[in-house]
Amino acid sequence: MNIDIKGYSQSFYKDICGASLKPVLDTIEYAHKKGIWIETTTLLIPGYNDSDDEIRAIAQFQANLDTNMPWHISAFHPMYKMLNVPRTPAQTLRRAYDIGKDVGLKYVYVGNIDDEARESTYCPKCGKLVIDRHGHIGQYVTNHLVHNNQCPSCSYTLHGIWQ
Ligand SMILES: [Zn+2]
Repeated sequence: MNIDIKGYSQSFYKDICGASLKPVLDTIEYAHKKGIWIETTTLLIPGYNDSDDEIRAIAQFQANLDTNMPWHISAFHPMYKMLNVPRTPAQTLRRAYDIGKDVGLKYVYVGNIDDEARESTYCPKCGKLVIDRHGHIGQYVTNHLVHNNQCPSCSYTLHGIWQ
């Protein structure tokens, strides 16, 4: 399952999404407890949910649950009812990526931007590049894993469902 964590404040959820934060977090915890593979996505909207504190709160929630759970951080583009908001600067995505890594998440990815270094997968143990991705949505993929899910350098078994 890919579940969006759109922000980390009830006011953001209520005012912007017309929804509630807690059921989203509860669903992630419940599905994870049931053994379902979860990846989460956060769309960073300039001025709405992109403060260091909010980004860190989202990443920390996830790290407390499972540092092997991938976190996708996407760039916002002006669209629909938010045409007056600028697109997410690359610098914001890099900042969120660093925060995700800083709290211990092993698999953090940026999206909606071409950033090969931050779209790719690295071995959590030895740091080797194991899946090389580039393109706007990581559509160009070179998989270096061996035996389906192992690092070719140190044999660490990467979490996830690989095919
Ligand atoms: Zn390795």
